[in-house]
Amino acid sequence: MFKIYNTMSRSLENVVPLEDNHVRLYTCGPTVYNYAHIGNYRAYMFEDLLRRWIQYKGMRVTQVQNLTDVDDKTIRGSRDAGVPLSDFTQTYKDAFFADLKVLNIEPAEHYPAATDCIPEMIALIEKLFEKGLAYKSDDGSVYFPIDKFPTYGKLAHLDREGMRAGARVDQDEYDKDNAADFALWKAYVPEDGDIVWDSPWGKGRPGWHIECSAMSEKHLGKTFDLHTGGVDNIFPHHEDEIAQSEGANDCIYSKQWMHCAHLQVEGKKMSKSDGNFFTLREILDKGYTGREIRYELIGTHYRKSLNFTFDSLNANRAALARLDDFHAKLQECAGDTENAELEIHLPEWAIETEKRFSAALDDDLNIAGALGALFDGVHEGNKCFPMSGKTAASVSNLWKKLNTVLGFLEPPKEEIPTELIELAEARVAAKANKDWAEADRLRAAVAAVGWTIQDTPTGPKLKKNCVNQSLKA
Ligand code: AMP
Ligand code: ZN
Repeated sequence: MFKIYNTMSRSLENVVPLEDNHVRLYTCGPTVYNYAHIGNYRAYMFEDLLRRWIQYKGMRVTQVQNLTDVDDKTIRGSRDAGVPLSDFTQTYKDAFFADLKVLNIEPAEHYPAATDCIPEMIALIEKLFEKGLAYKSDDGSVYFPIDKFPTYGKLAHLDREGMRAGARVDQDEYDKDNAADFALWKAYVPEDGDIVWDSPWGKGRPGWHIECSAMSEKHLGKTFDLHTGGVDNIFPHHEDEIAQSEGANDCIYSKQWMHCAHLQVEGKKMSKSDGNFFTLREILDKGYTGREIRYELIGTHYRKSLNFTFDSLNANRAALARLDDFHAKLQECAGDTENAELEIHLPEWAIETEKRFSAALDDDLNIAGALGALFDGVHEGNKCFPMSGKTAASVSNLWKKLNTVLGFLEPPKEEIPTELIELAEARVAAKANKDWAEADRLRAAVAAVGWTIQDTPTGPKLKKNCVNQSLKA
């Protein structure tokens, strides 16, 4: 059974989807007013591990990740840049999807943009009016009266005594001390420029929190299985989502909640407002790969804070090289072994690796335990080389299976440079002409740049040499 720590109950619980074998998952997405920083990607990486683990358990996932493309920050950003809001946010939407590819984060099933769902948000606010859970203020904005919703504060464990009835908060982001009636709809102000929609309460735009309530309901229904985000989302964002959705629909919003701890730099949360952030691009520009960054972001348990350092990124290189070295040796032994009935050839140490790996991830995504099992497996496996073709092929198969969860076990496919293909073709011609000296010279030229020509029954194949063949097991 897969157990997770539910923020709502503050305890470990089994994941049992409402619909058989189908987990409906809502993950708060980026506010597209800047390049996402790697703190944001820590959250998306934890969600990627979560979805991959659910799939590994044989369940289907429908994941929704919203794009907040209208809120206080996007409007301010487009105004400062002097660019229309949709052009401004498009740049960062494109960058976000490119970053997901670099980090090998599996795409969600739906990426709704807030600006495409305004009618759904208006309909939800109308429902709240019918229930007495919305009121219009003098300036034309619409607020949610938190004192009318008796369970307000249940996720963040707020002290209801301290709440100031009738006080209002306009900003999208605020802290627990300022818990107050929050904005569902913000009346038009001149600074909003042409960012404005009609509504039954006059011109304006939605508040941030109503966006996720409307977009989740559109794609996942009124009640779904899991809702995730970073711990900073617990209050006010998720608390307000619960108030809106449960207030309007009279049913549980999300069955379970998971929140990841922050990625920190020198003991402080990495955030745009504090200016202590690195975007993914900045780290790639320093010569690190998406795979190395993936390894860094995934490797610490999601509820522990992760202190980002370049030393740790550097250390990942050795760990990945060790994995690649093992994988390369497996492939060498497996050769062209047929794929049939591989499970029966899985050696005891590999069965044990898989068992420990699974037990760890079933335990609230204990990634440290899972990676520990993996490296112990590599240590054991390294003692068994050379393996028979069948054994190597079956372990290689397991490797592939584990990689559906980890996403960094197989090195990205190396593109063969055209010059090398030409050299290999020239060597075929030299051999046909029985010019052995030239054939040897061409093979040496290929070897000089770190590649090997392997002659196979179907012709020569080019293989890049394993970088760390010298690393000891
Ligand atoms: P935002 O674009 O600020 O709305 O954040 C998008 C997601 O990234 C949310 O789920 C946040 O909780 C998460 N997030 C923001 N900063 C960090 C951080 N330093 N570490 C982990 N997650 C973060
Ligand atoms: Zn959200």
